[in-house]
Order: sequence, then C-alpha cells, then structure tokens
Amino acid sequence: MTNAFNTTNSQTVFSAAQELMPGGVSSPVRAFKSVNGDPIVFDRVKGPYAWDIDGNRFIDYVGSWGPAICGHSHPEVIASLQEALEKGTSFGAPCELENKLAEMVIEAVPSVEMVRFVNSGTEACMAVLRLMRAFTGRDKLIKFEGCYHGHADMFLVKAGSGVATLGLPDSPGVPRSTTSNTLTAPYNDLEAVKELFAENPDAISGVILEPIVGNAGFITPEPGFLEGLRELTKENGALLVFDEVMTGFRISYGGAQERFGVIPDLTTMGKVIGGGLPVGAYGGKKEIMSMVAPAGPVYQAGTLSGNPLAMTAGIKTLEILKQEGSYERLDTLTKKLINGICDSAKQAGLSITGSSISGMFGFYLCEGPVRNFEEAKKANAEYFGRLHRAMLKKGIYLAPSAFEAGFTSLAHSEDDIDITLQAFNECFNELGN
Ligand SMILES: *Cc1c(COP(=O)(O)O)cnc(C)c1O
Repeated sequence: MTNAFNTTNSQTVFSAAQELMPGGVSSPVRAFKSVNGDPIVFDRVKGPYAWDIDGNRFIDYVGSWGPAICGHSHPEVIASLQEALEKGTSFGAPCELENKLAEMVIEAVPSVEMVRFVNSGTEACMAVLRLMRAFTGRDKLIKFEGCYHGHADMFLVKAGSGVATLGLPDSPGVPRSTTSNTLTAPYNDLEAVKELFAENPDAISGVILEPIVGNAGFITPEPGFLEGLRELTKENGALLVFDEVMTGFRISYGGAQERFGVIPDLTTMGKVIGGGLPVGAYGGKKEIMSMVAPAGPVYQAGTLSGNPLAMTAGIKTLEILKQEGSYERLDTLTKKLINGICDSAKQAGLSITGSSISGMFGFYLCEGPVRNFEEAKKANAEYFGRLHRAMLKKGIYLAPSAFEAGFTSLAHSEDDIDITLQAFNECFNELGN
C-alpha cells in the first residue's frame, strides 16, 4: 500500500475512449462524474479483487454492480463456461440449460411460477410493464422517487420534491405523453400511494418498486410498507411488481420477497442470475405469464435470450449460492464492514448513517434516518467524492457515487474487511470533517 498510486495508463486509455464513445464509457456511472475523478480502467478481476491496467490491485465493493456475489471469476463458473463454450456460443433455438435455470428460479423465488429470460434488467422491466398494462387493461403506473428500473421511457421520471407528483421526463427524447402515465410517490409513503389510487380510479395497472432501494444509496422498507402496498394493489385491482434485479438472489436465495414474506404478482431479475454474463428475467403467476407470446398476445422476443453461456454462468452461480451458510456469511461479513465504517466516521466527528442486509450495504454522510430519496439527498456528496478518491489510493474500489449501494461477495475474507476498515479509518482522519 506504500507504493505510489499511478494511473497513467488508465488516463491514456480513458482519454482515447472519450473520442470513441459518448463520455468514454458504455454505461454512464462508470465515468466517475459524480465523484469528480477519472475512472480506473480494469484489466482483470478475480475473487474479491480487481486489477487495473497500471498494475494496481483493488478490493472491490462494486462486484460488476452486483453479479459477482460468489467473487469474480469463480473457478467453478469459469470451468462450466469453458465446457459450455465447446458446444457453441449461441443457439437461437431451445436448449435444456434454459429449463434448468427456469426450474431453479421458480423453486427459489416465491412469486415466480413461470419465467421468461431476456438479456438485461432494463429489458425485463420494459417487458413487465407491457405485461402489467395488457393484463389489467390500464395504462398508468406508480413508481417511487429514487428507484431505478432501467432506462425505458416510462421509468425515466424525476419526481417533484416531497409530495407525490405527475411525472415529467428525466431525459430529452422521452415524450411527455409517455411519462404522463407514470405517477410517482416518495418511498416508504403509503399515504401518497393511497392518494394516487384515489385520484386515478381504475386507471393504475400496478405499482413497481425496489423492495430494498439500491439505486439511491441503500434504503430499506419500513415495517408495514411492503405489506401495505400488497393490500392497496389488491384492493384496487392493480398488480404489485418487485424489481429484484439487484436484490434477487442477493438479499436471500429467494430475494427480498422471501426475506420480507411479501409476495408480489410479478418479479424482475438480472445481475446475479447471469453470474456475470448478460441475463435478465421476469416471472410471476402462470395466469399472467401465459399472456406472453407465443403462449399469449403480449409480444416480447430476443435473438440472444436464453443464451447457453449466460444460462450456464447463472446455473453455476445459483448452485454455489444455494450451499449452506452462504447468506449468513455475507450478512456477518457485511455487518462487520458497515459497523466499522460508521464507527470510524463518528470517531472522526462526521455525521453518518449506514446499514446492510446480507451482501448489500450503504451509508450516507448525514444524520439519519434516511427513508426516501429526499432524505438521501442531505448526504454530503462532495465529501464522498474526496473519500472515494482517497480510498482508491489505498486500494479500495467503492461505487463511484454517494447514491449507489455497495456489494460484498463470498470471496471477501475477514482480512479484506480489516484492510478496508483500516483504510476508511485513515481516510476519515486524513480528510477531517
Ligand atoms: C441494474 C438495475 C436495473 C437495470 O438492469 P440493467 O441490466 O443494467 O439493464 C433495473 N432495476 C434495478 C433495480 C437495477 O438495480
């Protein structure tokens, strides 16, 4: 750790990338804009570590944004991929591996009786939205401020401050006519949802949410919130959809729905179920899923969907996760991490609130509690940017935004956590308050 931190090669490659691709990246958050830094260009990943093209090694708490829950490049995943590779890279025809992964998902996730595989979480959420509207014959949708459901038009809505409000598009190119059907409410606010149902009788197809929010930092549902949404949707003839793209197979083997005991009508998945290859999925009650083509009239398709390599990585990853004690291990390790971070920060005189469940964690540099996006925005993002850079120099790779959840993996050791906590402690003291 005493070696000088040199990122010359990363800087060279990234400056070339900026001429070749918008912002130099294939997905915006990777550009480090919200921490005011230059991104690190990766060379390879293994276990809990990532190496950059300058030869620096980092303990990684991004885990490819969630998929690397068993650790990067798990030897069993790599071995099964090598075997599958011999049989070809894409079939465009049914393969048995799809049955296998479908059976595993149906067995694991309480709400899922039937599943369709796609290539990303965005695709899963787009498809589920069409299905919600088709099944109910209604066009409107309720989502929550700070929840991300991929980049389809109808989900790209910035909510007004504080109160529930009609959606205006978050991005140019999204027609107002599309987002006018998107209603938003603050997270953890059942009253706001009740009002939206009252104001829009027989018009709302359903409510979609992250059952634990990981795209606005880390926000957990208050007791009664998920249960209340389950009741409200039922009373109003609307569907309840859990977007478990991030929480699926991470919060527990059956996702947040298993952990909280609230069963939605439909569920979207991604990240972990692809084990590091591009997979998304949506599933739910047979009655609803039977409407999807070719069983039913709701069109949705994909050239590479159910890809044999992606199915293989997903199957092997779930097999590893299913082993006794996986989630207990993630929970213990991550609790140690977040408690240590919060203790260090407080000792350095900073305001902080943080929490974790299983292998997912987050902290805000402000007084708690943080129950919704509005409260999350109180966090000191400027300080977080400096903290992020200082931690990089000490070999710790955190998500490059104050509003992203962190991830641990089964490959992180107690030693990795201790080294990380030591680095946090030094950084908090160096940066002061
Ligand atoms: C990542 C994410 C998505 C989008 O998935 P992509 O694979 O990036 O398209 C959707 N919903 C949630 C909750 C996510 O975390």
